[in-house]
Amino acid sequence: MVDPIAITKAKGSYLIDENGKQYLDAISSWWVNVHGHAHPYIAEKIYEQAQQLEHIIFAGFTHEPAVTLAERLIKILPGNFSKIFYSDDGSTSNEVAIKMAIQYWWNQKSSDTKTNLPSRDKLLAFKNAYHGDTFGAMSVSERSVFTLAFHDLLLEVVFIDVPDENNLHQLKQEIDKHADSVAAFIYEPLVQGAGGMKMYAPACMDALLQYIRQKNIICIADEVMTGFGRTGKMFASEYMETKPDIICCSKGLTGGTMALGVTACTEKIYNAYLDDDGRKTFFHGHSFTANPIACAASNASLDLFEQNIALKKIEYISERNEAFAIQLKQIKGIKDVRVRGTILAFEIEKGKDEYLNTIGNTITTKALSKGVYIRPLGNTVYIMPPYCITEEELETIYAILQEVF
Ligand SMILES: *Cc1c(COP(=O)(O)O)cnc(C)c1O
Repeated sequence: MVDPIAITKAKGSYLIDENGKQYLDAISSWWVNVHGHAHPYIAEKIYEQAQQLEHIIFAGFTHEPAVTLAERLIKILPGNFSKIFYSDDGSTSNEVAIKMAIQYWWNQKSSDTKTNLPSRDKLLAFKNAYHGDTFGAMSVSERSVFTLAFHDLLLEVVFIDVPDENNLHQLKQEIDKHADSVAAFIYEPLVQGAGGMKMYAPACMDALLQYIRQKNIICIADEVMTGFGRTGKMFASEYMETKPDIICCSKGLTGGTMALGVTACTEKIYNAYLDDDGRKTFFHGHSFTANPIACAASNASLDLFEQNIALKKIEYISERNEAFAIQLKQIKGIKDVRVRGTILAFEIEKGKDEYLNTIGNTITTKALSKGVYIRPLGNTVYIMPPYCITEEELETIYAILQEVF
């Protein structure tokens, strides 16, 4: 184990340690940072909000930053969403979505006295998925060393492959076997993050989503990582025509400055909870639900997106990634070079591809010594820079990747 490096300051694309050494943050500090570190505009809005209203109970009370953020998100989220539910982070945003979907069916069943609707309590998810570390989110994630101690305690989940041009028919057959008992399908649109930056095509996903929606299964897009520009569009779900019923965001939501999660749902889901029967209430809330400072940070981040500079940079990073990928493909010992927007990833041929593989540490140490911070996932090396990155800084990351390999 290497000792952690004490970072005392961060600015733009750089992390600065206690000795003054600078590191280019090529992975946006685990994918959260979008506009750069310690962004002065977001910092100012956080400061203003902290002086005005730092936190209140979000039951029986409401506040402007939460209302404004919800209204702005409803406008830009890809789908026909009508309500926003606040929670604390990516895991809880998914946990909320899973509970919301399961109770949606429970509420239908409990109003139905005659027809005896079947119970829909299974979930459908992709193999190799990662949706978080709370119990519901862990259940729909790939069974791995992360979840090993809890396998007997997790929810019932049917795992299918991500779609490609050849397996759609087979996937449909697998879904058919369980369709009537599945409450919801949860997916990371187009890029499976923690599972190793695995990418799949929008057209295949569209066909699969269409089929799953036909089966009345609630579709939950986990855009915790892909949201806010990562895949080249503001949200990865924009690449597909078929939109989700529920969408979850976190990571880049506050610009990556602090923790906040949102789960948005359609009017149809919301309506299933509108009832005089108190048992049909969605009983879920956290102490820090809709924290005003986190909402203010998110509103500030959206202000920055509206200025279009970030979107132009996303386009630039995406184009440069494509060009650099062609160069990378010529390097011996690496394979599966792939790009989706600002995310570029490839595999090292040596060693087993698993999270506990130590090759990542070696690469991290090497790149750090040259002033770039990357953190491979098993055999997968990737970059996902903040959008404030300059053309020069991006070239430095590429150059050092080439040097290391
Ligand atoms: C990071 C991540 C999560 C978990 O978010 P946390 O904020 O770490 O709880 C869930 N889903 C995806 C796709 C993620 O990348």
